[in-house]
Amino acid sequence: EDGFSDHTHMPKDKLQDGLIAPGFDEASCLSRYQSNLYRKISPQKPSSHLLSRLRSYEDLHKKCGPHTKSYNKTLEQLKSSSPSTGVDSSEECKYVVWISYSGLGNKILTISSAFLYALLTNRVLLVDPGKDMADLFCEPFPENSWLLPDDFPVKDRFDAFDQKSPHCYGNILKSENNKIATTSPSFLYLHLAHDYDEQDKLFFCDDEQSLIEKVPWLIMRTDNYFVPSLFLMPSFEQELEKLFPEKETVFHHLGRYLFHPSNHVWGLITRYYQAYLAKADERIGIQVRTFEAGPSPLRHVMNQIYACAFREKLLPRVERKKPIVTSSAGMPKLKSVLITSLTSGYSEDVRNMYWEHPTVNGDTIGVFQPSHEGHQQTDKNLHDQKAWAEMYLLSLCDVLVTSAWSTFGYVAQGLGGLKPWILYKPENQKTPDPPCGQVMSMEPCFHAPPFYDCKAKKGVDTGALVPHVRHCEDMSWGLKLV
Ligand code: GDP
Repeated sequence: EDGFSDHTHMPKDKLQDGLIAPGFDEASCLSRYQSNLYRKISPQKPSSHLLSRLRSYEDLHKKCGPHTKSYNKTLEQLKSSSPSTGVDSSEECKYVVWISYSGLGNKILTISSAFLYALLTNRVLLVDPGKDMADLFCEPFPENSWLLPDDFPVKDRFDAFDQKSPHCYGNILKSENNKIATTSPSFLYLHLAHDYDEQDKLFFCDDEQSLIEKVPWLIMRTDNYFVPSLFLMPSFEQELEKLFPEKETVFHHLGRYLFHPSNHVWGLITRYYQAYLAKADERIGIQVRTFEAGPSPLRHVMNQIYACAFREKLLPRVERKKPIVTSSAGMPKLKSVLITSLTSGYSEDVRNMYWEHPTVNGDTIGVFQPSHEGHQQTDKNLHDQKAWAEMYLLSLCDVLVTSAWSTFGYVAQGLGGLKPWILYKPENQKTPDPPCGQVMSMEPCFHAPPFYDCKAKKGVDTGALVPHVRHCEDMSWGLKLV
């Protein structure tokens, strides 16, 4: 034991427990086969049912994906926008089209939600490439693209789709009862964004699903990880139980199945890892995201990070009175702290503290921050590539501290299979007490869930119905799987 470890000693697991289908071209997506060199083997194994459903999904995608015969045929309905009367629907392909929307963490979570919905309803997922998707991710399915073709007929109308659009599902429900049942439209716009209303939310009711089921094209806009509410729908219950006997692993498995960094982003990840993280005995990721308006939150959030790290013994305290500390017991460790933030103040403070003072236990602490982009610049190419690389680097850490309300942190924890200490949201410019707490599960939080009992047709606390869907640690009204 030389006290140092590096990724070359990790066991190899090229196909990630069978999550990855064989038959991809390795060179076009190096991360797909190299991630096992950087990531510890997950103790969470995907169920055999999930693996077989993924394989059958891949077959469906091959049959129905862009520019196939079935795709072209289903597209005809959209072009003529004629009601699909008389067509044998069992032969047709059906689709969920995901509209590019919101920040990158949100995007990763909503694509995962849309994909699970597609699995449950035998639909094919097509992803609007927006400005950056093709540069950020490899193709997840063998043989055919998941990207929505540029010439998709209603694509130029995506931006204009909102709750008032005539094709908006919630709007149709408002204007005329059961119009969907009688006219069977060729497509529906599903508004599942944070500002959705009572009618839009009926998407999460079984009765409504039986109407939506018939529509070949569902075009979805969402900035929410809506998976927890799918677990509350009786019609999906049995299948979800078989797919995910361990409920807190939904995003862990789907995320690792769907999101492989493109070669460009993989270069950002691996160069950084090799240079700053590989040699450490322990890697601690700290993700700082602040949502406070007004004066800089640097001081009270910095205090919060220290309070959390010392209290939970994630980092050693420093000795401010002595210039040198020789460690008494055991080998001192090298710990690398990876800090991600839009600003540089946090990592400067931590780095200075560990340079100016010795640690009480003799550990050596290196502090690194890949970028400080100043502010969110979603859809700018290199900015998004860095954001993705940083989420991924955080997921390679052994211990995580994340910020409340942030999907950026949820992605890191889920991919890494980690239960982070979450920094509670500060109120009134004050450090919260306690500063942080470890989360119940590695699942992301659904920030804007419905509170509606579809059967009784009245409000209900959806966080109190079943043991595996609970309110989140960082947002009292949110829902998460545990
Ligand atoms: P959320 O807003 O925290 O839920 O996360 P999103 O990823 O959806 O949106 C925040 C966006 O701001 C990111 O996608 C990045 O574009 C940017 N951003 C926020 N924090 C960081 C950071 O620590 N590093 C980098 N590179 N970008 C960040």
